[in-house]
Amino acid sequence: MKNECSIVRDILPLYAEKMVSKDTAEFVKGHLENCPVCRAELEKLREPVEVQAEPQTDIDAAPLKRLKKALLMKKVRTILCTASVLLALVLSVISFLTAPKYFAYSPELVTVTKTEGGHLVLSFDERITNYTLQRIITGKDIKEVVYYLEVWTTTWDRLTGRHGIQNALVRETTGLPVYIFFQQNYALNNVDMDSVCIYGNLSRLNGSWVALPGLSLGYWLLFNIALFLILGCMRFILRRREHIRRCIERAILIPVAYGLGHLCVLGFRTASYSQWRDFQLIFAIGVLFYCAMLLALSIFYKRKEIKDAKME
Ligand SMILES: [Zn+2]
Repeated sequence: MKNECSIVRDILPLYAEKMVSKDTAEFVKGHLENCPVCRAELEKLREPVEVQAEPQTDIDAAPLKRLKKALLMKKVRTILCTASVLLALVLSVISFLTAPKYFAYSPELVTVTKTEGGHLVLSFDERITNYTLQRIITGKDIKEVVYYLEVWTTTWDRLTGRHGIQNALVRETTGLPVYIFFQQNYALNNVDMDSVCIYGNLSRLNGSWVALPGLSLGYWLLFNIALFLILGCMRFILRRREHIRRCIERAILIPVAYGLGHLCVLGFRTASYSQWRDFQLIFAIGVLFYCAMLLALSIFYKRKEIKDAKME
């Protein structure tokens, strides 16, 4: 009897699933009628099977649901990704069209006249569409007032035939000697041009005034290149740790996005006379590129997930 029990126990799981031949089934049935121990064993086998019956269907449906969800997410991400890239391109074009084009100094660009009230009127050439005037009071005991004048136009203004600003009024009520410098923001044969004094008695003012292009965007670019290299090494070292690797990959995209933004705004130049404007644009375009690349990365991993799900 004991020998028969061990044979029945071996077949029992198959018997419970009704996967045995008719003869075997009859043999097991016959044994079970006389053996309460094996009967109890069969009950035990059936219990968990019945409990598992419902979640079983869920487990079957889960991969399909997951697959559907993954496909939908992929679609949404692809759309967002494309939109980000398009927006970045539009911003780049705007950046190109609105980039200041400075003028090399020539006397007909600006003329300064003094009004009867003692104010100054700057009359601009019609090609000039924008200007900034920065006021600086020099010296410890305030000896003179110096103005820096920047004038420029943009490709956009030229294309749309925008009329130039005609003139600007400078109200100076301090009674101090006034100087106005024309900042050329212009390099000839890679030599930065000096500022030109267009108003004031220069012999009384010492020192030379040169507008140097700002270089901080170049330093920012170097910083981002360094960051990229460091993160690249970290990714290589930690490549076997899936979670950390993915985090690093997301971080690596930051300097890459900044570099792309820089390329869109300044090309291969690093010096800029309008750093703040350029930085804002690089930042905006960089953020869009970052979003796009982040989405592309997640699409890449989603696609892998879908592939794995299909393999299952
Ligand atoms: Zn038995």
